[in-house]
Amino acid sequence: MSVIDFTKTPVAELFGSNCFSNAVMKERLPKNIYKEILAVQAGERELTLTVAEVVAAVMRDWAISKGASHYTHWFQPLTGLTAEKHDSFISPTGDGKVIMEFSGKELVKGEPDASSFPSGGLRATFEARGYTAWDVTSPAFLKQDPTGTTLCIPTAFISYYGQALDKKVPLLKSVDALSVQAIRVLRALGNETSKRLITTVGPEQEYFLVDKEYFDKRPDLLLTGRTVFGVLPAKGQEMEDHYFGALKEKVAGFMRELNTELWKVGIPAKTQHNEVAPNQFEIAPVFLNSTAAVDANQLVMETIRTVARRHGMEGLLHEKPFAGVNGSGKHNNWSMATDDGINLFDPGENPEANARFLLFAAAVIEAVDRYALLIRASVATSGNDHRLGANEAPPAIVSIFFGGPLTEIFDNIAEGKNSGKTESGALIKLGVTSLPALPKDVSDRNRTSPFAFTGNKFEFRMVGSSQSIATPNTYLNAAVAQVLKEYADKLEKASNKNEAIQGIIKESYSKHKRVVFNGNGYTDEWVREAERRGLPNVKNAVDALSVLIRSETIALFEEHRIFTKEESESRYHIYLEKYSKQINIEAGITIELARRSIFPAASDFSAKLAKDAAALAAIGAVSSAQEKRAKRIAELSSELFDETAKLETVLGEAQDTVDVQAQAKAYFEKVRPAMDNVRDKVDALEKLVSKNAWPLPGYEELLFKL
Ligand code: ADP
Ligand code: MG
Repeated sequence: MSVIDFTKTPVAELFGSNCFSNAVMKERLPKNIYKEILAVQAGERELTLTVAEVVAAVMRDWAISKGASHYTHWFQPLTGLTAEKHDSFISPTGDGKVIMEFSGKELVKGEPDASSFPSGGLRATFEARGYTAWDVTSPAFLKQDPTGTTLCIPTAFISYYGQALDKKVPLLKSVDALSVQAIRVLRALGNETSKRLITTVGPEQEYFLVDKEYFDKRPDLLLTGRTVFGVLPAKGQEMEDHYFGALKEKVAGFMRELNTELWKVGIPAKTQHNEVAPNQFEIAPVFLNSTAAVDANQLVMETIRTVARRHGMEGLLHEKPFAGVNGSGKHNNWSMATDDGINLFDPGENPEANARFLLFAAAVIEAVDRYALLIRASVATSGNDHRLGANEAPPAIVSIFFGGPLTEIFDNIAEGKNSGKTESGALIKLGVTSLPALPKDVSDRNRTSPFAFTGNKFEFRMVGSSQSIATPNTYLNAAVAQVLKEYADKLEKASNKNEAIQGIIKESYSKHKRVVFNGNGYTDEWVREAERRGLPNVKNAVDALSVLIRSETIALFEEHRIFTKEESESRYHIYLEKYSKQINIEAGITIELARRSIFPAASDFSAKLAKDAAALAAIGAVSSAQEKRAKRIAELSSELFDETAKLETVLGEAQDTVDVQAQAKAYFEKVRPAMDNVRDKVDALEKLVSKNAWPLPGYEELLFKL
C-alpha cells in the first residue's frame, strides 16, 4: 500500500508522470519529429522508420530515467485479456558488459509467438508468426510493481497474412470507416474545415470488492469470478443503503490508491461511488479518444485487481458474481467528434448545428434499429447472460431512449409538423435549414434504457463489466457508418440540401422510430410492447452471436473494410468457444465443490445430528427435531448426489460435441440448467446445515464484510 502526500506531490504533477503522452513527446522530441507523430496520429501520414528511430531513443531514455529495465508490446488478443511479452533493453557489447538499446524497429514491430492465442482457425499453429504493431493513437506507459518498472507500448496484433488477431485493429478500422462517411455527410452540410472524425468514449466501470480472506476460501470465485452456490443473507440490497453511501475507510483507501495509480499512467479517473449492491462500486474516467479509452479501460480493470490485493481485498469484474444481487455492467458513453472539436451529438443552439445534430442522431436511431442484433451480439458473453434481461440490468431488447422533448421534435418532423410548441412549452421555430430549434434541456434521465441519449452523448449500457469495450464500439461504429454512407449518397446528389436533410430525417425516423422507447425498460409490459413493435429480444449469447455469420453482417463488415469474411467467421467461432469454455469451468468447479466439499460436510452433519438424536433418545429426551433435520439433510444430500451425477453426464456430452455451434448450444441448453439443479440442492442444504459445519464462506461474509 503506498500513500502519496498530495501536498508534497501535487496531483497535477503526479498525473501522467508514467505516461509517454503527447505532452512528453512535445517536450522531448525534435520539433519536426513531433509534428510527424501528430500527422501519423491524425492518419495523414505513415510512420517511417527514421521517425520511429528518433522516438524509440527518446522513449527509451525517458523510460530508463524512470527506472525501466524492460519493455513490452502490450496487446489485446481475443482471449479478452491483455497480453505482454517482455524484453529487456540490454544488449551485450561482447566484452562482458551491456548497453541499453531500443531501436525504432523494436518500437514499431514485435513478433510474439501467435500460436497460443485464439485465431478461430485463421492461422494453423505451425504458422506461428504474429506481429504486434505500435498503435500511435494510444500512449505508451510504465507499469510499476514493487520489484521494477516496464515500458508498455500499446500495439495492434495481426497475423503473418495481415488478418486481425486482436480487438484493436477492427476498432481502428471501424473509426476510419465512420470517419470517411461522417466527413462526407458533414461536407454535404457545408462543413469545409473538419478533416477527420474520432469517436470519444468514457466507460463507467462497475465492480465488487470482497475480503481476501473469504475470497481465498471460495474456489469458484477464484476460478470463474462468480459464486456457483450461495444463499442470500437476511439483508440484501433492499434497504438501498449502499448506493452513494459514505465509503468505508478500507474502500476509501483502496480508491485513493486506485486513482493515484491510474493518474500516474495518465488515465483521468474522475468519479467514484458505491453502487446499488452491497460491496459494489463504480469508477468512471473522463472520456478519451476511443482507442485510448479501450486501453485505459483494460488498465482500469487490471489496476482494480492489483490495488485491491494490496488492500487485502479482491476485485470482482464478473457480470454476476452473486445470484440474486445486482450484476455489474459497463456504461459505454459514446460520441462522435471532429478533429476540430465539434461534438456531433451536441444539440447546439444555432440551426446549422441543430440540423447536423438531428441528422446524426437520426442516423444513430436508424443504426440501432437496423443493427439491433449486431449490437446485442457485441455484448454476448456467458457472464452477461446472467445479467441482460434480469430485472436490474437493461433488458436484452435493444431500444433507444431520447426523452420527451427530443422525441417530440422527431415525431413532429416525421409528421411534417415542424413548427409550434413542444408539450414542455419550449419553442420550436424554423431556422434557415427549416429545422426546429431545440429546447434547452433536451433529454431527461432514464436508468433502464440499454441505449440512452444523455445530453451530448449516447450511453450504451448493455456492455458487461469484464468485457473489453473494443468490440461493442467496433460494431456500433460499423452500424452508424453504414447508415451515414446511405445518407451521404443521397445528400451528395441532392440539389436542395435543406430539403434533402429534412427528407432523410423524416424518412429514416418514420421507418425506425419503433426502436425509440422512453418508458421503463424493466417492466413486463415493455417486453410485450417490444414484441408488438417487432423488436428482437435475444435472451442468450449463443443465439445472439449467430448474427455474426449472417450474410448481411459479413457484407457490412466487408463493405467498410473492418473484417473479411474469414475474420468474421473466425471470430464467431472464437466467441462460441470462449462461451463453452467458461461454462465448462463453472460446471467443473460445481461438481468438484458439490462432491468434495458440500456432500461430505452435509453427510457428516446429518450423521452427527442422527447420533445426537440417538444419544438424546437414550436418556429419554425428545429428539424429533434433530431426527427430522438429519433426515431432511440426508435426503437433500442424496438428491445432490444424483443431480451432480446428471450434471457430469451432460457435461461429458457437451465436452464430446465436436461442432462448435452445437457444443455451445449444449452448454447453454443442457449444462447450465443441470448446474442450476445442483445449486438448488446445495443452497437448500446451506439453509439447514449449521454455519460452523458449512465448508464455504457465505454471501453474508462476501457481501457485507470489508
Ligand atoms: P452521467 O452522470 O450521465 O452518467 P457523466 O457526466 O458522469 O454522465 O459522464 C459519464 C461518462 O461519460 C464519463 O466517463 C464522461 O467522461 C463521459 N462523457 C461525457 N461526455 C462524453 C462525450 N462527449 N463522449 C464520450 N463520453 C463522454
Ligand atoms: Mg452514466
